[in-house]
Amino acid sequence: MFGGIEAGGTEFVCAVGVDPQNITISEPMSTTTPAETFQKVIEFFRQQPAVESIGIGSFGPVDIHPNSPTFGYITTTPKPGWANTDFAGTISRALDVPVKFDTDVNTAALGEHKWGAAIGIDDFIYLTIGTGVGGGVMVGGRLVHGLIHTELGHILLPRDPAKDPFEGNCPYHKDCLEGLTTGPALQKRWKVSPKTLPVDHPAWELEAEYIAIALVNFACTLSPKRIILGGGVMRQTQLFPMIRRKFQTLLNGYLHHPAILEQIDDYIVPPTLGDSAGVLGAIALAQSA
Ligand code: ZN
Repeated sequence: MFGGIEAGGTEFVCAVGVDPQNITISEPMSTTTPAETFQKVIEFFRQQPAVESIGIGSFGPVDIHPNSPTFGYITTTPKPGWANTDFAGTISRALDVPVKFDTDVNTAALGEHKWGAAIGIDDFIYLTIGTGVGGGVMVGGRLVHGLIHTELGHILLPRDPAKDPFEGNCPYHKDCLEGLTTGPALQKRWKVSPKTLPVDHPAWELEAEYIAIALVNFACTLSPKRIILGGGVMRQTQLFPMIRRKFQTLLNGYLHHPAILEQIDDYIVPPTLGDSAGVLGAIALAQSA
């Protein structure tokens, strides 16, 4: 048996199991203080069968480099009380098990690779657009970690102030991908909850355009064989055909491959694990070598 923790800024979900058919998933636990939240996590695992190891996919920024003295920490997060928190170490010591640690999006990408929309595809991107934007990148069957970890949500995008006077709400960059496309950005730009915007509202054309520009940049840089788009904003499924069309238009035939020219519906896709991607990915991370 393996353990998994999906650690989000709003809630945590824990699980014990081996695959999507054989798994016990906890009720969501509100993310309060680190001490209180970890206590709930530890109690969940103490009530379950023993596990060989635990995988953690965490909100961040996080330190995911095993040789670093702060490996397993949530580092510079603005979330009150959570900066410089030893997450992996606390869980590992309390439950006396080895812990593997990665970003929430890398972990979800791992779940989609093992059981979801990227089975058998070793070069892909998993992008989530919700309250924030994050992305996991797999190249040659390995997740990209690099210097810190990927931050696909913070690539800079062109914005035409005449077309979109909303200057973006990323505290670091204003109009980066995250600053322009998240649920909170939509709310600020249109001054209503994005859930109440009709499917034919111009908000979605603009949203699709920003996302398509970002995907062109990722496709040209990383040459993914598939792009998975998840997160709360992408539950607006009308976005998918709009993004695919704009993506093709912007590329203008330059990436000359049937996957893009003819089979775009299989190239830019939703995740198939849905809300369980995070916690299943954490189980996959625990099982990884
Ligand atoms: Zn940014």
